[in-house]
Amino acid sequence: MNCELGLKVNELFDQQLSVWEMARNNFEGLKTVQIREFDFDGFAVKVQFNPARMVSSGAKVDAKTIAERKCFLCAANRPEVQRGIEWRDYDILINPFPIFTRHLTIPRREHVDQRLVPYIADMFDLARELTDFVVFYNGPKCGASAPDHMHFQAGNADFLPLVSDYFNLKQVGRTELVETADTAEIYLMKDYLRVVYCIESADAVALKEAFMKLYNSWVVDADVEPMMNVVCLYREGKWYLFVIPRGAFRPWQYTAEGDKQLLVSPATVEVSGLFITPVKEHFERITKEDVVDILTQCTIK
Ligand SMILES: [Zn+2]
Repeated sequence: MNCELGLKVNELFDQQLSVWEMARNNFEGLKTVQIREFDFDGFAVKVQFNPARMVSSGAKVDAKTIAERKCFLCAANRPEVQRGIEWRDYDILINPFPIFTRHLTIPRREHVDQRLVPYIADMFDLARELTDFVVFYNGPKCGASAPDHMHFQAGNADFLPLVSDYFNLKQVGRTELVETADTAEIYLMKDYLRVVYCIESADAVALKEAFMKLYNSWVVDADVEPMMNVVCLYREGKWYLFVIPRGAFRPWQYTAEGDKQLLVSPATVEVSGLFITPVKEHFERITKEDVVDILTQCTIK
């Protein structure tokens, strides 16, 4: 275990929250955030009312909008107050619009397109060094609000329902070993409202090879990354790489009118069992059936 990076991250939070009022208010706001919970068989899906996330849930990510805006992940356009930790070719930054009580955004230093395969080994190493965190990736067409600038995010590992669901469901036989590749094992979660694979391995090379097997099985056009959200956890000498293939980016409810509208923009966090609703009325109105419907549209059954 390498705690050095974790200590630096703690220092970064202390420093940034002492001087950056907007970020401090948003992190403070999380302490009193409202949560609803819908119970399913053996797991739950949570809904968080988080008005600060309008900036992300409501973001326009079409090519024209992206091309015309200043990229908020490029160092030149970041707020003056923002500081980071240099890690390889990345800057580790606090996310000023948090979902997690510890939430990081980790952009590469150069402005290059969001894609996973060339950088996935960095994700493994980050997860190993940031032991209290999960590191996650939103595909450019399924959740990344900067699809043109490669970045990961990280959040405290105890916060994402997917992680505890996996260990709980595995214990009661609700995971199926679908493939063994070298020293990696690929499991499929069963009866979980959406398809989630978890690759387990203590070896980074085998982990990547197993991931590529899944990835290649979904490739249609070699230049286009299959839509997916990915979560990486390192625990007791082993990686757990969750791969969630995606269906639609946003559900029909996103653009519906009036009392049919639900502003839920599914990214990794949502398909991992935590829906974010920036609009109070939508938070109050969303039902269990809506949760099932949105997951059905936005993932693979
Ligand atoms: Zn950029």
